[in-house]
Amino acid sequence: MIRRWGTLALCAAALLPVTAGCVPQGPAPVDGFALRYEKPAAADRAEYRFLRDRAVADPVLADLNGHLVLPYGITVVARSCSGEGTGYDPAAHRIELCYEDLAEERALFERSGSPTSDEELAEVVRETLYHEAGHALVDVLDLPDKGARAEEDAADDFARLMLLRGRPEGEETLLTAARAYDLAAAAPAPAPEVPMDPEGLEEAEDEHAPPAARAEAHRCAVHAEAPTRHPSLATPSRATCAVTWPRTRDAWNRDLAPILRR
Ligand SMILES: [Zn+2]
Repeated sequence: MIRRWGTLALCAAALLPVTAGCVPQGPAPVDGFALRYEKPAAADRAEYRFLRDRAVADPVLADLNGHLVLPYGITVVARSCSGEGTGYDPAAHRIELCYEDLAEERALFERSGSPTSDEELAEVVRETLYHEAGHALVDVLDLPDKGARAEEDAADDFARLMLLRGRPEGEETLLTAARAYDLAAAAPAPAPEVPMDPEGLEEAEDEHAPPAARAEAHRCAVHAEAPTRHPSLATPSRATCAVTWPRTRDAWNRDLAPILRR
């Protein structure tokens, strides 16, 4: 998602000293994606250790930095987010990866009666990180603003593009994420979002495609890229994926051309 930032962005932009409500920013990376962990809230310690000890995010950042040359640094901050949710902050060039989101994903799988393995949870986190990196790349490239939903779709397409660069493990990551979206689609509707600022001026809205559509788009792309490795994905409704996905992938590659690492 891309968050509408209130106090947090103001703290970052003004470089105010750390006070209540402000998050320590730390030095920004010179260029490329860099990872930083913040001390977790007590309830999030297990998710913090999971991310850190398994180095869940590291291969994503290495992949992005190996493929792209950015004009400035983008910090991925793993932190306790107090319920705000993982998102990209364009003002601070910063992706916030929330420890709480891992617990939510794990609970989603457990409620379905099919607990997720640690590797599957790591795959869901990596897909999320590529999605947030997609938002960051829309920002870096100053791509035309076609609306919030179009940007969410573009971020999903970027995740697919990066995960399908000829690697079977990326296909598995997308298929695991698709399963998580299936579970989200089947789950009861969440309670309305809480306003992000005390005055209720900026309501958080979910601009993503519905989870079922995101799951199907992942499977469509995997089917298009690697039909022989995933014969069970070959359904009549996906007959057009071999045309539509390459078109989407190639459009992103054209946008990325100025910043591809040579
Ligand atoms: Zn998004």
